[in-house]
Amino acid sequence: MFDFDLFVIGGGSGGIRAARVAAQKGFKVGLAEQYRLGGTCVIRGCVPKKFMVYAADFKDSFEDSRAFGWSVDQPEFNFGQFQMKKDAEIKRLEGIYENNLKQSNVACFRSRAKIVDPHCVKLSDLTTYSTKMILIATGGYPFVPTFEGSDLVMTSNDVFNLRELPKRVLIYGGGYIACEFAGILNGMGAHVTQYYRGEQILRGFDQDIRNHLYQAMGERGIDIELNQVIKRVTRKDQQFQQLRVESSDGESKSFDAVLYATGRKPNTQGLNLETVGVYVDDSGAIVVDEYSQTGVPSIFAIGDVTNRLNLTPVAIREAMQLTATICDGIPTPVDHTNVPSAVFTRPEIGTVGMTEEQARKDYDVEIYKTQFRPMPNTISGREEYNLMKIIVAKESRIVLGVHIIAPGAAEMIQMVGIAVKMGATKEEFDQTVAVHPTAAEELVTMRSPNNAS
Ligand code: NDP
Repeated sequence: MFDFDLFVIGGGSGGIRAARVAAQKGFKVGLAEQYRLGGTCVIRGCVPKKFMVYAADFKDSFEDSRAFGWSVDQPEFNFGQFQMKKDAEIKRLEGIYENNLKQSNVACFRSRAKIVDPHCVKLSDLTTYSTKMILIATGGYPFVPTFEGSDLVMTSNDVFNLRELPKRVLIYGGGYIACEFAGILNGMGAHVTQYYRGEQILRGFDQDIRNHLYQAMGERGIDIELNQVIKRVTRKDQQFQQLRVESSDGESKSFDAVLYATGRKPNTQGLNLETVGVYVDDSGAIVVDEYSQTGVPSIFAIGDVTNRLNLTPVAIREAMQLTATICDGIPTPVDHTNVPSAVFTRPEIGTVGMTEEQARKDYDVEIYKTQFRPMPNTISGREEYNLMKIIVAKESRIVLGVHIIAPGAAEMIQMVGIAVKMGATKEEFDQTVAVHPTAAEELVTMRSPNNAS
């Protein structure tokens, strides 16, 4: 007889969902979380980030409102006040997570946990619990490469706790987090410089979207320097806390803060995985099969710690499939195809399915593309354009991918994602009557391919 049927290590989006659903299905469940309930998404990721995006977006509204007849005095942003409001809301959400676990009868331990053997976990206070199954849902942490001055830079974790908005910020990296924070901090009033080591930001995204975002960010006043590598960071002046950054081109510039957004690594340290025989790949991620099962039959892993598709809703989906597999006895694999996602840059990106570059490798494709001025900008005069792109398999007519960069792109792609997931054809898109006047109507009114291969 075990103490628990399932012991979950990690109280983030994936771990909490698995724990609650397993408990609701009659499992005796324990969960250990060493920090705050809610994990990266709720405490120091998607949720506080989205609040920051909302805060930054007001800048556009103030600016554009004048052209629509409003008189707006010079608006001022109180960063400290915003952070307090945001923190209070995050605390409220954390409380809800805690309550939900209680109500589901999950035994919650505010402690680190490590695996002793395939059926035993040990907490920081050295108590041990036997368990039929173990789920590792420990997420990831921001990775900062080793270099001179790495102790002086901040990560996304730190931005959420800043009390003052740095005036001049350098962001290093060209991925999701770097581009999102560049837009946020720029919108809040900081002068943002972004260095990226490669040819174009957002590697892996559709090339047209990458180019469009690069240009739009530049026009919003973000200095993006491509092919730029940081060599050294030093403190310029103890009193003013300024940082001097030397880069690969021999340049040396000063900033008030340097944010490293150079990727995230799976959280596997101290879990004792080697001893119990759970295999970890070269990136440090736990290797699992399509049922999220590790090589040790009683041990499972979901979410960012498995480095499959590091998105909150994917971790939640992995949790749901896992509970169907282990609680209901219905082996339910996780489908990682055609997952819609958004990047909350300013302007926003929504994407589902293949990029043009990926599609061309396997298909004869038609590309439907439109770039247009969103309606409010015709009055406001804002020189920012929307880009929408549909990638169609020429023979089957199936829509392989949709990529949008526009205000509201995240909301649009959620809906388009259903059609793409269902395998809709371009003609089925066309048969859908437009909602007018909207930006999204362009998705069903693109009649001729611009770029047939
Ligand atoms: P990403 O993998 O998206 O980007 C990392 C960036 O850092 C890349 O530009 C990469 O360059 C660069 N980089 C990596 N290592 C180094 C190095 N040693 N020196 C210099 N540059 C380096 O990671 P993020 O941290 O931005 O985000 C982590 C994950 O979190 C994302 O993959 C995503 O899954 C998730 N996320 C999702 C969001 C959303 O859905 N909206 C928002 C935020 C995060 P290169 O391209 O050359 O490899």
